[in-house]
Amino acid sequence: MKIKNYINGQFSPPISDEWIDNYCPANGEVYGQIPNSSTKDVEEAYKAAKEAFPAWSNTTLEKRNRILIKISELLEDNLQDFAEAESKDNGKPISLAKAVDIPRAASNFRFFGNAITQFASESHESIGQNAINYTLRQPIGVVGCISPWNLPLYLFTWKIAPAIAAGNCVVAKPSEVTPITAYLLGEICKAAGLPNGVLNIVHGLGTTTGQAIVEHPDIKAISFTGGTATGAYIAKVAAPMFKKLSLELGGKNPNIIFADCDYQDMLETTVRSSFSNQGQICLCGSRIFVEASIYDKFKADFVQKVKGLKVGHPSEATTNIGALVSKPHLEKVMQYIDIAKEEDGIVLCGGKRVTVTDYENGYYLEPTIIEIQNDQCSVNQEEIFGPVVTIMPFKTEDEVLEMANKVKYGLSATLWTNNLKRTMNMSNQLQAGIIWINTWMLRDLRTPFGGVKASGVGREGGFEALRFFTEAKNVCIKY
Ligand code: NDP
Repeated sequence: MKIKNYINGQFSPPISDEWIDNYCPANGEVYGQIPNSSTKDVEEAYKAAKEAFPAWSNTTLEKRNRILIKISELLEDNLQDFAEAESKDNGKPISLAKAVDIPRAASNFRFFGNAITQFASESHESIGQNAINYTLRQPIGVVGCISPWNLPLYLFTWKIAPAIAAGNCVVAKPSEVTPITAYLLGEICKAAGLPNGVLNIVHGLGTTTGQAIVEHPDIKAISFTGGTATGAYIAKVAAPMFKKLSLELGGKNPNIIFADCDYQDMLETTVRSSFSNQGQICLCGSRIFVEASIYDKFKADFVQKVKGLKVGHPSEATTNIGALVSKPHLEKVMQYIDIAKEEDGIVLCGGKRVTVTDYENGYYLEPTIIEIQNDQCSVNQEEIFGPVVTIMPFKTEDEVLEMANKVKYGLSATLWTNNLKRTMNMSNQLQAGIIWINTWMLRDLRTPFGGVKASGVGREGGFEALRFFTEAKNVCIKY
């Protein structure tokens, strides 16, 4: 399979005719090639976007809404093909791609197609001064969207949909590791009647293609989701050009379990929040803190449940844990298991590579639980981004609050308790952008999404995303 760039409504090879191999995580074999795009390809994409901008920014909200809804419907019509492509490219179980990734990509277009028709701006009468102020919310122009490999289409569209709904034209880059569904999206956008040049998709390496987008002086805003180190680098490059930035970065999220919770619900959800998508979700609760009075029971039950998860080929309906996304990533995750042992961590289950019959070269790893002695150890502080969680007991609310916050990240936190006072106290004090009480990853697209500390800057979701993708201009009229 040869993937091409999507520029000005056409599928085109990279100008250099250089290509990069794309691997299938389930069997470790090369099954496609993507363009190794350069600054020149990004420039072509920029020119197409710039040319499309005057007409698109003047397109009525009703028409934008119709096109975005149509994209959403076409994604739903092609659910099976998209889910198969996502699962093959990323290694995630097809059941997950079908139930979560692709439906959510469709929802992103539907939601922002509707949201733009409800997006109001302010007006203020300056009493006693015979003046009225009103605020225009104008699209920025050409914007850049860069997304990671863990939830490929889900996160790619989470940026593109609000950007184009708000009237911008986009130069977008998916991860080089998972390019296929973004490639397929080009056809869908064309079929839905999105004018040429409104969305341009350029494939390639982060350090060349991605960087060319960030360095482009006339791409005025960047919405980025990815690792914290990359986010910091982007911020440094973008700052002298005064670009608008939205950075959704890494997470090392606490999952705090009190004895008074609904135990069974907590246990089932904790298995999901630890190992969904092979633990490769920025929101996974990878640091589990359990109240001492139920620690031994939880430990036994959790280990038993996790041992029952089936690691297998992503296309099999019974697979719970598919393949990790790439060989380098698998190796990185396995290194952390060695580090844990050096730091006196006890591997309660998992920790080893899995050989799946007929797919011996696939990147499979057992779901792994590590009991730690010290909350400051590396495996409890650094983002592993794989099927590896830590557990340790705590005695008091103050103690667990301190451990939960004593980390450089601040994306999300989950709390299991039925005590209202504790819920209020802890949600006020937990340092994170998203707090879940007695649930995990329950998302309402109207709500703000983003992190604090090293987990990022800015909020996406709902009107926050539309605010990011527009400039506010105040007009004051004296009468
Ligand atoms: P990376 O930061 O490596 O890459 C993210 C994207 O940026 C990719 O498209 C990548 O391209 C590109 N990129 C890499 N270097 C540059 C650069 N110098 N300039 C511009 N673009 C660049 O992250 P991963 O893909 O490894 O994704 C995993 C990370 O994403 C984890 O840290 C995870 O926590 C985070 N994440 C955060 C979320 C959030 O909402 N806060 C949600 C999901 C994930 P390429 O892949 O081709 O190198």
